[in-house]
Amino acid sequence: MNEELFYRHVAQTSPESIGIEVQYAKGIFLYGPNEKKWIDITSGICVSNVGHGAPEILQAIEEQSKAYLHPMVYGEVIMEPQSRYAGMLAEELGEGLDCVYFGNSGAEVIEGALKLAKKYTSRSQIISFHNAYHGSTHGAMSVTGAEKKKKGYGPLLPEVSFIHFNEEEEFKKINEQTACVIVEAIQGAGGIILPKAGYFQALKARCEQVGALLILDEIQTGLGRTGKMFAHQLFDFKPDILVLAKALGGGLPLGAFISSKKIMSVFQHNPVLGHLTTYGGHPLSCAAGIALFEKIRQDKLLDRIPALEKIIKEKLQHPAIQMLRGSGLMYAVIFKDFEESEAIRKEALKQGLLSIGFLNIDNGLRICPPLTISEEELREACDILLQAIDTVVKN
Ligand code: PLP
Repeated sequence: MNEELFYRHVAQTSPESIGIEVQYAKGIFLYGPNEKKWIDITSGICVSNVGHGAPEILQAIEEQSKAYLHPMVYGEVIMEPQSRYAGMLAEELGEGLDCVYFGNSGAEVIEGALKLAKKYTSRSQIISFHNAYHGSTHGAMSVTGAEKKKKGYGPLLPEVSFIHFNEEEEFKKINEQTACVIVEAIQGAGGIILPKAGYFQALKARCEQVGALLILDEIQTGLGRTGKMFAHQLFDFKPDILVLAKALGGGLPLGAFISSKKIMSVFQHNPVLGHLTTYGGHPLSCAAGIALFEKIRQDKLLDRIPALEKIIKEKLQHPAIQMLRGSGLMYAVIFKDFEESEAIRKEALKQGLLSIGFLNIDNGLRICPPLTISEEELREACDILLQAIDTVVKN
């Protein structure tokens, strides 16, 4: 019944959706009808960073729901969860990233960040990266570095150019006309591509030299995914504008772009109300996000990541795995081609493991479990994947 309604009335964009029915979710598990259960090795693609149904998050949502849901559009009245979460993020991020604009989703806050950079610099050129993904709205799609994904949606934003990630020679394309450079801390949809040592410091220096702002997209890497609360802390640099979403709302819709008070103040003048949202920073989402953020700190979840990462690296060795690429709890398992990768994904699902591929490459699967996964659960998940690989490769 639900399946029929799903395929008949829920707009489909995937050529073949995963199609399992989820009735409830707890910890690392998704549960379906007839006692079926799957290990979710994706955290809902980097959202459920402290697992599904964390009691602290559910309690925070319940308490906030009794106080109020939506008293007023964004930025007009003081809402305790918004103010408190902004304060917590500012304290963690430090000077220069202490002014938070909350939105609803990743693409929406990417739009806000791009507008902010254009307005602040009075420039209009944008530099992005081949293989990048920043979302699916017009502006966000304009800075996405996969041409085949944009077919039929033009014209998109003008004056956007693309350079190759990790290639410093291309920095010469960043110049005095550049409003901003937008970059992911780790290219996620591109297949978990890490920056080379010193790359971001050099990129920041080039931006400073020409007066362009550096926008860092940490929508996938934020909130503990790489073993630090934010990936730029791992890579030891600071962007001018930081963009967060996905895990930020603890499983509810929430995004943010974060900068200095000085940069953000351009939205206040000439014209006033330069960026608006009705629901951005929804109190329920902020309350849930605070609970997630506090849980990561209080349960010292970041301290667990090196041991978990070691398990992934030790376990996921197989002749059919062409490459294992990643950092922290964000890995790509690369196979020979799309057919093999898809067959392994489907076989793993049959055996009780949910993984998913990448948008910009078609021969890899994601390993990005909740930070709360136990070592035993992670070993079990890797074993299922290895069994699935064996089954597919032997046939
Ligand atoms: N940026 C990155 C790095 C992402 O991975 C995503 C989503 O996958 C987005 C932006 C867009 O976020 P949303 O799907 O919430 O619009």
